[in-house]
Amino acid sequence: MNISAIRKKIRDLSLERFKLEMQLAKGLSRKKLLYGSVVKKFKACNKKGCKCTKGALHGPFYYLTYKQDRKTKMVFIKKHLWESSIKLNDNYRAFRKLRADITKINKEILALFDEIEKANTVSIVDIEKTNLMETKVFLEIS
Ligand SMILES: [Zn+2]
Repeated sequence: MNISAIRKKIRDLSLERFKLEMQLAKGLSRKKLLYGSVVKKFKACNKKGCKCTKGALHGPFYYLTYKQDRKTKMVFIKKHLWESSIKLNDNYRAFRKLRADITKINKEILALFDEIEKANTVSIVDIEKTNLMETKVFLEIS
């Protein structure tokens, strides 16, 4: 990629990032977030003669799993809290997804700036070897 193509790419990525930032700032940042993951489980009680012993498991049951102090915790979610828990956890996941997308774009932009830096960096020897006119050109394009 030449520098002008790199500049265009940076502009495009910045625009894309701005849209994501606005989604985060205007939309998701107004919503409550439930940290962790909501997981759905079916269980067997294994009592003699129960339908679950023939494969018809009990459930669904919902749990919230999350990390705390490097340990994974799992909390049972009461039935009347299923809907709100799932919704607030979806908000959390959407928030984290946007944040991750912004981070990814930041990295891409920085890598492109690194390419520009590499392409435009001259040494003192380079400057000495060029005449004054060309040095002026160096200064203008920087
Ligand atoms: Zn059972």
